[in-house]
Order: sequence, then C-alpha cells, then structure tokens
Amino acid sequence: MRLKNVPGSREAIAESEYTIKDAEGMKGKWHEFFGNNNPIHIEIGMGKGTFIMELARRNPNINYIGIEKYSSVLIRAVEKRIQEPEMQNLYFIRMEAEYIENVFDKGEVAYIYLNFSDPWPKDRHAKRRLTSRQFLKRYEGILAPGGGITFKTDNVSLFDFSLVEVKEAGWKLENSTRDLHHSEYVEGNIMTEYEKKFSEMGNPICRLVAFPPEGAVKTD
Ligand code: SAH
Repeated sequence: MRLKNVPGSREAIAESEYTIKDAEGMKGKWHEFFGNNNPIHIEIGMGKGTFIMELARRNPNINYIGIEKYSSVLIRAVEKRIQEPEMQNLYFIRMEAEYIENVFDKGEVAYIYLNFSDPWPKDRHAKRRLTSRQFLKRYEGILAPGGGITFKTDNVSLFDFSLVEVKEAGWKLENSTRDLHHSEYVEGNIMTEYEKKFSEMGNPICRLVAFPPEGAVKTD
C-alpha cells in the first residue's frame, strides 16, 4: 500500500478509546474485555476499516477486532469508528500480525478474515504473505474449533500460492472462486476498499474459505 504519512496519527491512535494499548496483556482475556461470550472475529490487514465496520453493524452478536500495522491507515478506521459510538463490538489493534499468537490464546478467535493482503512478490519473502504456511500455523494457534479463514484478493499469483499453501498445510479448502462477484458466493459479500477499487478496474476477485486440519485447533 502506498503510504502517506498522516501527522499525529500515532498519537491519535494511542489516545483513542477504540484501540487496544497493551494487546499482549489481553491474551486470554478478550471475552472478559467485551463483557460477553460472543465469538470473536478478526480481520488482519484491515486497512481503513470499511469491511469490518460493516460486519460489526450487521452482526451485533459477534465481537470484531481489526488489526493493522500502519498508524497512517488505522487512523482512518478510527475516524469512522468515532462516528458510531453506540457500536459495542469493534476495536482495533495496531500491530504486525506475525506476533498474533502473543495477543490471542488458543481457541480465542472464532474466525479470521484476510482481504487483499500484501502480495510480497519475491520468492524469498513468501513467508511474509498472510496466507503462507507459516501464517496458517499461527492461525491454528489461535482459532477455536470450527473456525477458519476467508481470503479475498485480485492478485492471481497470490491466490495460486495461497491454494498451494492451504493444501500443503493440510488445511481443508471449503470452497474457492476466481470470480466472486459472478459466483454463487456473492450474496452478502461486503466489499473492501481495495475490492471496490480493483473490481471497478475490471479485475475479477478471487476468494477462498479454508479450515485447519482436524485436531489442529486445540483449546487445552
Ligand atoms: N483489507 C483492506 C486493505 C488491504 S491493503 C482492503 O481490502 O481494502 C493490505 C493492508 O494490510 C495494508 O493496510 C497493510 O498495512 C496491512 N498489512 C499487511 N501486512 C500486515 C501484517 N503483517 N500485519 C498487519 N497488517 C498488515
């Protein structure tokens, strides 16, 4: 993503009531934080937050946490969130997703969304891709039984790579499409910022849904 420095964004995020300051200190305490036992869904690489805001509006009985590594992007999500103070079920964390297992305990996350993740086109950077086998292992470390991932992208190379990784990691590919907007899965689809931009350019949107191998998700 092209990054504009947004002056003051780091400070604004540090002060916002909607961002979690000590995310690692929250590990194992997320349900307590939300004050209920509703499932917790996360989006990793949330960008400006349009997608997760809409999910949170539609599903008040699910708790959402948006994760984004850059303050200058996250600030846009915070600005939107401030407009809807009545919303009880959406918070943000500014962090690098590599450390996700330090923030969520085994079984604490019921579902993970990945939208238009950075492609990291060089082979030597493959392990940085959010659908690499290394990241899938981390997701196994936090997902609750029955939980999985939904991944959308317009990047065909990244999608092909992701299908291989899902298979190699022993995950179950529940479904996949290379043209989401003209598929049976389009109903209820919420467009992300990138999805809107790239589909308006004529790029088909790829999507896959996958679940960890049976028994991979432990809650002990
Ligand atoms: N999901 C949004 C934004 C996609 S761009 C949309 O679909 O419109 C990808 C976003 O993921 C960027 O904002 C980038 O900063 C963030 N990101 C990429 N890798 C990340 C990582 N390892 N940890 C946290 N955020 C990450």
